[in-house]
Amino acid sequence: MQSDKWQQLKSRLAEVQNIHYASGLLGWDQQTYMPPRGARVRAEQLATLDKLAHQFFTADEIGQLLDDLSVEAANLPYDSDAAGLIRVTKRDYDKLRRVPPALVEEISWTSALGLEAWTKARADSNFGEFKPLLEKIVELEIELANHLGYADRIYDALLDQYEPGMKTAEIQAIFEDLRRELIALVQQIGRKADRVDNACLFREFDEQKQWDFGVEVIKRYGFDFEAGRQDKSVHPFTAGFGLGDTRITTRVDRRFLPCALFGTLHECGHALYDMGYRPELEGTPLAGGASLGVHESQSRMWENVVGRGRGFWRHFFPRLQQVFPEQLGDQDADSYYRAVNKVQPSLIRVEADEVTYNLHIMLRFELENELVERKLRVGDVPAAWNAKMKEYLGVMPPNDADGCLQDIHWSLASLGYFSTYSLGNLLSVQLFDKAMKDVPAIPSQIEQGEFTGLLRWLRENVHQHGRKFTLKELATRVTGEPLQARPYVAYLKKKYGDIYGL
Ligand code: ZN
Repeated sequence: MQSDKWQQLKSRLAEVQNIHYASGLLGWDQQTYMPPRGARVRAEQLATLDKLAHQFFTADEIGQLLDDLSVEAANLPYDSDAAGLIRVTKRDYDKLRRVPPALVEEISWTSALGLEAWTKARADSNFGEFKPLLEKIVELEIELANHLGYADRIYDALLDQYEPGMKTAEIQAIFEDLRRELIALVQQIGRKADRVDNACLFREFDEQKQWDFGVEVIKRYGFDFEAGRQDKSVHPFTAGFGLGDTRITTRVDRRFLPCALFGTLHECGHALYDMGYRPELEGTPLAGGASLGVHESQSRMWENVVGRGRGFWRHFFPRLQQVFPEQLGDQDADSYYRAVNKVQPSLIRVEADEVTYNLHIMLRFELENELVERKLRVGDVPAAWNAKMKEYLGVMPPNDADGCLQDIHWSLASLGYFSTYSLGNLLSVQLFDKAMKDVPAIPSQIEQGEFTGLLRWLRENVHQHGRKFTLKELATRVTGEPLQARPYVAYLKKKYGDIYGL
């Protein structure tokens, strides 16, 4: 009888998962190969599939099965697949049931308008054009938060959609430590800015050769082209449709080599995570990454901690030089390692280096909080943005396009999302430190272009669990300590102290 109910639940959840995968594949196609005029019918196909998945998943029968099985699951070990399945599915289910479908529809409709308004306002560099839509979006997000519910801060409800279990106050405490250290480090580096020259990154590099080099590296990383592929898109992303089909995209800039290479390494990090959960979790809500923050810890680790590391370039620079002998003839592994790590306070988040990146995130996190707590009016966003840019990074946006209009997230009604980028950066280092402690050979393996030691460790400690544990649970389980800023700050001070002779 009981095992009957488990089977019922699992087969229903597998149907929902299949709809999600089908919709994900249509979304992948939309951003890669779909002809422009397919956009209208594609939007309708996606809307239908998303509605179906929502109906299937929020059905009363699923709620009943979850209630019945919760009793049984309560007696199972917390780490067991069955307990994890009930815990995570119930969390998703309760969240979706709490929000009225009419509100979901209004948010999706408004964000479609928001995206259009944002695109135009950004092109015109005029925040005023986007302001009415953003005001509407903030109101809807406040309404959404009230439906989702929260105990302490309204922002908790929005954050929880992307980073389950994480609280605003916890992030604030972590950011407090980080901000002070980062601002000081940026200033110290600024006084020695000319110690690193990165002109060698901006030469002319054949697109196909760039592409092939990236592919060569991610094959070494462990990306399985029998279970995945890479294509081009305007905005790089990773999309997984179950074990056996994980796809990444990249973009290539002829005149700036890091664009394609580090984009590829980043998405490969996401993909390795998506390729790594245990097959037993397939077809359930446990298949996939734990949260956006944990996902970003994987992409950032392979992109930055590994890919912008000295050991990586000791191995790969001679190979890159072979590919581009004319462009890189005047460089060596060390000068190239320094070039790809140049620190430069800049206006644009997506171009930011490891030291300044998290300051961009804090700024957005703080403004979002003030907006939903009604401490900041939407009309005052540009001034507040510019003041914080000046304070944190010492730079002043000359216009709205390079200031508060640069990111797409607010137009999509994705308030609560940004901090997961920083949580991912912090976790990437905390995990990597532990991996090196457990497997001391990892750094010398990396110098030989050998990454199986690190990947095996990640599979064992992070990937195999899928969504079973939250970021906070994983950090503590794996590293023995809660997520914190200290390891990341130590990593930056050592790496950049050395590069800049601080
Ligand atoms: Zn990412």
